[in-house]
Amino acid sequence: QTEKMTKLDRLNIIGEMAAGIAHEIRNPMTTVRGFLQFLSIKNEFIKQKENFDLMIDELDRANSIITEFLSLAKNKNMEFSYINLNTIIHDIYPLLQADAMRNNCEIKVILDDIPSVSADQSSIRQLILNLVRNGIDAMPKSGIINIYTEAVDSKVLLSIQDCGVGIPPEIREKLGTPFFTTKEQGTGLGLAICYQIIQRHSATLSIESSPGKGTTFTIGFKQS
Ligand code: ADP
Repeated sequence: QTEKMTKLDRLNIIGEMAAGIAHEIRNPMTTVRGFLQFLSIKNEFIKQKENFDLMIDELDRANSIITEFLSLAKNKNMEFSYINLNTIIHDIYPLLQADAMRNNCEIKVILDDIPSVSADQSSIRQLILNLVRNGIDAMPKSGIINIYTEAVDSKVLLSIQDCGVGIPPEIREKLGTPFFTTKEQGTGLGLAICYQIIQRHSATLSIESSPGKGTTFTIGFKQS
């Protein structure tokens, strides 16, 4: 007799494998990174210094891919509680603003009086961070990111709006596919994580975008 694996079982197995692999890969990477950094400092004045720095950057990049993949594959347990999205935005504002300023951008928040929704706080933080980072990346020179919240009918809406390059239709279809990226240094995991978070909150997503003008991601949470 065959036992059927549920989708959840499979996800758990993938998650545990990912966690195991991440641990095993990170340890040697940390060792190599440490030696590279040491050599880089020792060789301050010779030509190859930039190569050492490049190797360190590449290791850091591999490390962040592992971190992001882990957060996707682990499908971690969410802790739902009644929270106000405005509070979360307020809490992470300094982080968002620092990210934006580094890239000559600015964050504006336009928050309505909204009721609390049932949500997992750390996931919502991650969601907002990922969307704002994409907005910043979409405005290579400078620009403003608007974050809105509003209560409409039976939903609480959260919108992240940029005035960046926009998303062409052929790319739009691929959004949320793990590892899909158009950026040289992208991981293509940011939106996949967002889509998973949105799905697990039974929330809705709408994307408005016009090439050259900008993009708005709007997430609709059920009012509880
Ligand atoms: P990454 O940022 O690592 O590329 P994401 O999954 O976050 O991964 O995004 C995938 C792709 O979707 C990006 O490479 C980009 O082409 C497109 N994209 C996402 N957000 C935006 C945005 N706000 N404006 C324009 N393009 C976007």
